[in-house]
Amino acid sequence: MKSELLKNERAVVVFSGGQDSTTCLFWAMRQFAEVVAVTFDYGQRHKREIECAKAITAEYGIEHHVLDMSLLGQLTVNSLTRPDMDVDEAIPDGSTTPNSLVEGRNMLFLTFAAVLAKGKGIRHLVTGVCETDFSGYPDCRDVFIKSLGVTLNLAMDYSFVIHTPLMWLDKSETWAMADQLGHLEDVRTKTLTCYNGIPGDGCGHCPACSLRRRGYEQFLQSRSSK
Ligand SMILES: [Zn+2]
Repeated sequence: MKSELLKNERAVVVFSGGQDSTTCLFWAMRQFAEVVAVTFDYGQRHKREIECAKAITAEYGIEHHVLDMSLLGQLTVNSLTRPDMDVDEAIPDGSTTPNSLVEGRNMLFLTFAAVLAKGKGIRHLVTGVCETDFSGYPDCRDVFIKSLGVTLNLAMDYSFVIHTPLMWLDKSETWAMADQLGHLEDVRTKTLTCYNGIPGDGCGHCPACSLRRRGYEQFLQSRSSK
């Protein structure tokens, strides 16, 4: 159901074409009068993610911007932007994060999305960050999002509202949300989460696929026990 407060408003969704942001896109389409999607091209090894994002927005007639963020690969060494690095399948000993971490990614993406949004007179921003599955990514934490909201408002003298519909959901509950929104199959078959670039159910063994599959199985279990 649309909130009375939001139904005449527009929102910019940070949209990667993965499971979480696609669920957020469908959530935002339900909440807001109009949705604009923004995808960042930062030289990620799975270019197909951007193709998934384009296909989903085209199918639903959503205004879609793909912004060049290739400088991210120049700033930081990580396995998502360096084709010569293997993606960690687990957090390595002596490290707190897998080598797929792109430092500051959510901060940068939300900041650029906010600049774009303000230019369009839009104040609502939607992102699929989630603290429940917090795997050492500090800019996925709720406290960071609240802090960034204050910072963006001060930086641009504006009243942004950052929406994080997945913040306190686990992966199983995120699948349940896609199901409640009537888009379970869209999210399952049209998104790309896999670090090895295989859409839908993915390669099955990278950390992203493992997390996604475990969540999906839990979701199916809890749905069948209802
Ligand atoms: Zn995979």
